[in-house]
Amino acid sequence: MTLPPVDALTCPDCGPGAPLVPGDSTTPFRCPRCGRVFFSSRGVLDLAPGDIPELTRDTVSQFGDSWSSHEYLAPYQEKQFLDWIAPLRPEDFKGRSVLEAGCGKGRHTFHLAGYGADHVYPVDLSSAVLLAADYTKAFPNVHPLRANLLRLPLADASVDVAVCLGVLHHLQDPREGLKELWRVLRPGGTLCLWVYGREGNGWIVHLVDPVRKGITSRIPAKILRPLLLPLSLTLFAALKLVYGPFTRRGQRPVGWLPYSAYLGYISKFPFREVEHIVLDHLCPPIAYYLSGPQIEAWLAELPAAKSALRWHNRNSWNAVAVKPG
Ligand SMILES: [Zn+2]
Repeated sequence: MTLPPVDALTCPDCGPGAPLVPGDSTTPFRCPRCGRVFFSSRGVLDLAPGDIPELTRDTVSQFGDSWSSHEYLAPYQEKQFLDWIAPLRPEDFKGRSVLEAGCGKGRHTFHLAGYGADHVYPVDLSSAVLLAADYTKAFPNVHPLRANLLRLPLADASVDVAVCLGVLHHLQDPREGLKELWRVLRPGGTLCLWVYGREGNGWIVHLVDPVRKGITSRIPAKILRPLLLPLSLTLFAALKLVYGPFTRRGQRPVGWLPYSAYLGYISKFPFREVEHIVLDHLCPPIAYYLSGPQIEAWLAELPAAKSALRWHNRNSWNAVAVKPG
């Protein structure tokens, strides 16, 4: 990793109209407008805004602990990544500047870096971005940033591709988050999203979400993880004994098995991944389930030159949109 090019950076406190300038030997960057200096530590440039709303801080803390309790990379994560970004392919990142909005522990950053991007900006407000920096420290094209996705410290039109997978629905205002991703995208650039769907998730919205909001999101993730062990083990047993065999490991959803497209898909994962999925669904204070028409309406507001929405595993949405050139 190296420090990012200064012309891409703006002050998170003063906004997109305040470009950063090089600092001195101890502070790589500073804002000439407010005078704030920005430091780099353990490979991460800290561009988090000075004020972070409490709900966002709580969500970020839960995800930071969730990621750090599952700090590993595995080969199957690349296939899942390519599923989420389809129809984009590895060659679509070559020679590009890429924003990975909400990188978590860097399981996708690692692949983006290897696909030949000129610059990769993995951004996360949680401490997990330190893991992303560790995993990608051999790549000089990766510039990990700690920052808030609702106030990206990047200049207008500074990236060619923006990828945001499983993150927009955890922002306090997903619609504003989408606008912010669009702002930093160059004309002709591509945005790729994957979000929780409202369709197909009625039982989660009505049964699981009240438990998340009222109970589990209030328990620190480090404590919640062992408490969820019986649930994780039960799910894992159902995946291996029922969903995997009957769906041919996710290749053929079956009508009589509830939620079989998604559970068949994750039936091939090892226990630690299933345990992480359970924790990931139950620990955050903020989670929205977004309908297809809602996402289409937001994309129409941008507006996108062209966009495509794809229902993924019958419980989530993948969207790809191109900014007018
Ligand atoms: Zn400033």
